[in-house]
Amino acid sequence: MRIGLYPGTFDPITLGHTDIIRRACALVDRLVIGVAINTGKGPLFSLEERVAMVESECAKLSAETGTEIVAHPFQNLLIDCAHDVGAQIIIRGLRAVTDFEYEYQMVGMNRAMDDSVETVFLMAEARYQAIASKLVKEIAKLGGDVSKFVPDDVRVQLLDKIK
Ligand code: ADP
Repeated sequence: MRIGLYPGTFDPITLGHTDIIRRACALVDRLVIGVAINTGKGPLFSLEERVAMVESECAKLSAETGTEIVAHPFQNLLIDCAHDVGAQIIIRGLRAVTDFEYEYQMVGMNRAMDDSVETVFLMAEARYQAIASKLVKEIAKLGGDVSKFVPDDVRVQLLDKIK
């Protein structure tokens, strides 16, 4: 059984994330979405809210792809989380060059800790590549339309949150 771990903050889950999840489903039998508990990013949504949004979007993606998808909150080392959930593969999304340097270091350090867990990078469809949760939140706060960036249910919750 091939198990993949896709970690992130998901504050909130965007159409960039869901595009990566859909692609990852083609590569694994089970996909675990690792939702970071302690994130230095100072999340807008609580862990419970982020997990609930991930679960609700993943239920739809699971029905669409036939791949089992589960959400797993974590606060330990990523490589330990991979061991906890039995993942042989870590999935990361790659946007522009700005993501590259950080990801390059992460792979190097994770490999030094466990060389048997492989990191796989996926790119979202062109129209979703520029999406970042941080910018989506800023656009929403300034009254912009975020319907092209997040799933509909997430947009409703986001507007509710910033009210
Ligand atoms: P963000 O960086 O937007 O705050 P996360 O920390 O939740 O999002 O990111 C989790 C993973 O998803 C990371 O590997 C990140 O590079 C990837 N990702 C986020 N948005 C996109 C996107 N639009 N296209 C491809 N990958 C993405």
